[in-house]
Formats: sequence, structure tokens, C-alpha cells
Amino acid sequence: KLSRRLEMILELIPGQSRLADIGSDHALLPVAAVKSGRVVQAVAGEVNPGPLKAAAKQVAEAGLQERIAVRRGDGLAVIAAGEVDVITIAGMGGSLIASILDQGQDKLDGVQLLILQPNVGEDILRRWLMEHGWLLTSERIMEEDGKIYEILTAVPEKEDERISSRLLYESQEWPSVNGDGTFTVTSALLLRMGPWLLKAPTSVFFDKWNSELEKLEGILASLSSSRLESAEAKSLQIKQEMEQIKEVLACLQ
Ligand code: SAM
Repeated sequence: KLSRRLEMILELIPGQSRLADIGSDHALLPVAAVKSGRVVQAVAGEVNPGPLKAAAKQVAEAGLQERIAVRRGDGLAVIAAGEVDVITIAGMGGSLIASILDQGQDKLDGVQLLILQPNVGEDILRRWLMEHGWLLTSERIMEEDGKIYEILTAVPEKEDERISSRLLYESQEWPSVNGDGTFTVTSALLLRMGPWLLKAPTSVFFDKWNSELEKLEGILASLSSSRLESAEAKSLQIKQEMEQIKEVLACLQ
């Protein structure tokens, strides 16, 4: 059975798509996507032999070898340009996903939709998308088995829409709750917390950032007992970061 996380990714795939699932592991997503009728043809890409074998087994057991090609290779090397409409990359760090997209840029021509689920480093991935002509169109956040996941979608940004990606991350003045006057939600903060998630924050979003604050609190505590000269500057930076996050959360509540 598909996890709720993969189910949510599956629901974002438009009907009649040709899909590449990169880092497919057991190929659970492409198998479910073809079975559901949403996807007509799929490529399951894997760089590691163990997961590759598991993917091939899964596809064979489902009797879907005609529809799903299991291929070994690094990132987008497993597809040809123009071969697929939708790419899913899930369950890896944001920087790894960004580097897979970066190294496979020649394969992205003709791709209409990216569905990405970074485990960490979401800001790195949002920045890559923004700087490479991909418009972030939606963000979801969900919790499963005590872990919180974000799922991002992006579409190619047409030349005349280039401004909208910039607008998405443009610094914003918000009325200050903790201090007086206004405070600035910077582009860095928007990239980190997610512009769409900030527009419609859910309880899981608050859970995520409260637990991030706890982690930062823990780092502060360990820095306070450090005798490294750099510890003081680092502490100050973390305190400022925590203040910004708290201010944002207070404004949203
Ligand atoms: N996508 C599945 C999911 O979300 O449940 C599996 C996630 S699993 C944690 C990550 C998979 O990505 C592993 O099977 C790993 O072998 C594969 N992987 C890591 N780097 C890769 C790369 N550069 N190209 C293709 N696959 C990669």
C-alpha cells in the first residue's frame, strides 16, 4: 500500500502523463501511477543496484514491464529529452534534488511539471527553481509517522511571466506583533518557509516551525558552553533567526 506521502504526490500527477520517477527505490510510485490510469508510460530511475533490483521486481510482479522502464543511472541521465511530461523526485535532500535538476538541465526541455518532495533543505531547492526559470505553483505540507514532509510543484516559467517568480519571493513588510511598527519578511525567509505555505499556514506548518525553533534552542544551549571564539557570533545569528521565525509565526496566528 502506498504511503500517504506518495499518495499525495500521485494525486498531483495530471492524467495521461508520461512520468519519470527519479530515485524510485521500489518503484512504488510509478507502479501505482500506471495502475491508477493517470500515467500512460513511466521510467523508474535508480542509481543504486539494490533499489534498482527492487524496482525491477516490483514492476515485474505488477506485470507492467511494457509500461514502466526501469533504468539504472544518475539523476536525469536515465531519460531522453522530450521523453516525459512530468518528473517526480521524492525522499531526498533538497540540495541533492537541486543538483540532479542542475546536472540534467538538457533533459528538462518539454517537461511540463516537476513534483518534488525534499526531506530537508527546501530553501536550496526553491532557490534553484527560482534561478532556473521554474515557477513554484504550489506547496503542501503533511505529517506521517512523526515526520513532516513538504511537496512542491513547479512549471516552466514563460518569459513574460518571469516577474511572477521574483514577486513570489520579494521581501514583504508585515505589521509587527512583537515589536512596534513593521518588520520585513525577507526573501531568505520566504525561501526557507515557503511562499505558498505562508499564505495558507496549516497546523502542521506551525508544528514544523515550532520544532525548528526547539532545534535552534538546543544549538544555542550547546554554543553557550562552547569556548570557541566563533560561538558568540553564531549565537547572535541564531538568536536573530529565531526572532524572525517567531515574529512570522506570531503574525500568522
Ligand atoms: N522516491 C522514493 C520515495 O520517495 O519513497 C524513494 C526515496 S529513497 C529514500 C531515495 C532513493 O534515491 C534511493 O533509492 C537512492 O538509491 C536514490 N538516489 C539517490 N541519489 C540518486 C541519483 N543521483 N540518481 C538516482 N537515484 C538516486
